[in-house]
Amino acid sequence: MPLRAIVATTASKTAAALSRAAGRGDGSVIGGWIGLKIDPDLLTHLASGRAVALVSGTNGKTTTTRLTAAAVGVLGRVATNSFGANMPSGHTSALAKEGHTPFAVLEVDEHYLPQVIEATRPKVVALLNLSRDQLDRAKEVAMMAQLWKTTLASHPDIRVVANADDPLVVWSAAASTQVTWFSAGQRWHDDSFVCPESGHPIERANGDWWCSGCPLRRPRPQWVVEEDGVIDPRGDWHLVKLQLPGKVNLGNAATALAVAGEFGVRPIEALPRLSRVSSIAGRYAQVDRDGRNIRLLLAKNPASWLEAFDMADQAPTLLSINARDPDGLDTSWLWDVDFAPLRDRPVLITGDRAFDLAVRLQVNQVPFRHVNSFDEALASVPPGRLEVIANYTAFQDIRAVLDRVN
Ligand SMILES: [Zn+2]
Repeated sequence: MPLRAIVATTASKTAAALSRAAGRGDGSVIGGWIGLKIDPDLLTHLASGRAVALVSGTNGKTTTTRLTAAAVGVLGRVATNSFGANMPSGHTSALAKEGHTPFAVLEVDEHYLPQVIEATRPKVVALLNLSRDQLDRAKEVAMMAQLWKTTLASHPDIRVVANADDPLVVWSAAASTQVTWFSAGQRWHDDSFVCPESGHPIERANGDWWCSGCPLRRPRPQWVVEEDGVIDPRGDWHLVKLQLPGKVNLGNAATALAVAGEFGVRPIEALPRLSRVSSIAGRYAQVDRDGRNIRLLLAKNPASWLEAFDMADQAPTLLSINARDPDGLDTSWLWDVDFAPLRDRPVLITGDRAFDLAVRLQVNQVPFRHVNSFDEALASVPPGRLEVIANYTAFQDIRAVLDRVN
């Protein structure tokens, strides 16, 4: 590496370590920021010589990145931004911290995908899904899909691993010549009722979909979730045992196997590693306290709330909503979520914006009770499982009450 990049790398690691020592998080954002100030090309220098996979999409990218890093780990050391710092400062910091590794698996914020592709020249890009998110600052989903499409069209050498079940993803990957399709199912359809190419309605039946006015249709996937396993491109079915709950994580595992497959990792080698992942920065973590088994589920936008309802057991459920900066300040997305699946279980609500949620639940005819704190919630449910579904900062608040559970 050039001298400037070496100095920048050292400064980045030092700043991150100082930030950690001062108890200000894992330091990856500030460390990467300082490194990039000293050498704007630092990410390019650090990525060079590594086989890189990028994972992007609205939902599931942190979990999929973690599972993919575990799978690619079969081949050797992997650098990864496992704590969700998914912008270039986080990538820079993750690569600087790990030193030289043959592989890197990086979660990328969907807005930054073009610039991170330019900087890291990845071998594989995984495209998970696109749906509405943070209404006050995220791009409109069709614009996001267009941005991806334009970017991938100018990098035909990159292998793309893409979700065949999401029409927006299929459309954005259509210009790529080397696509491996996976099917992980899609519960949320509200952002793809119409074709992004022609504007005609998208028809759906039995897991298939097609445009009613142009040739865009679901491609045949090479990796498919079936029952509690995954079918690989050779047609072999593999049982997938995960500690992570729900069908959505089976889909994330299928994606991880597909990406690792591009590096030459076989499912039989990767699966034992996937089964050892138990939680990701507190997500899916289970904590026993006062006879209650608390499980933490993070839900950030309408599509991920639907997935969380699917993952949660039929048990008392605490919902917590904030609207601070990292969450997005606009809570009108609550009206995009159908909370009806919660009608037949005890529901508690809390958080800064609990009363926004209260109005939504009342209209949705979901009985609920408001509590002022996590401890009050804990005291008001019987011993046994308590499911907690919270958005970003609300999740972090509860994680702090539980001593920063990982
Ligand atoms: Zn069409």
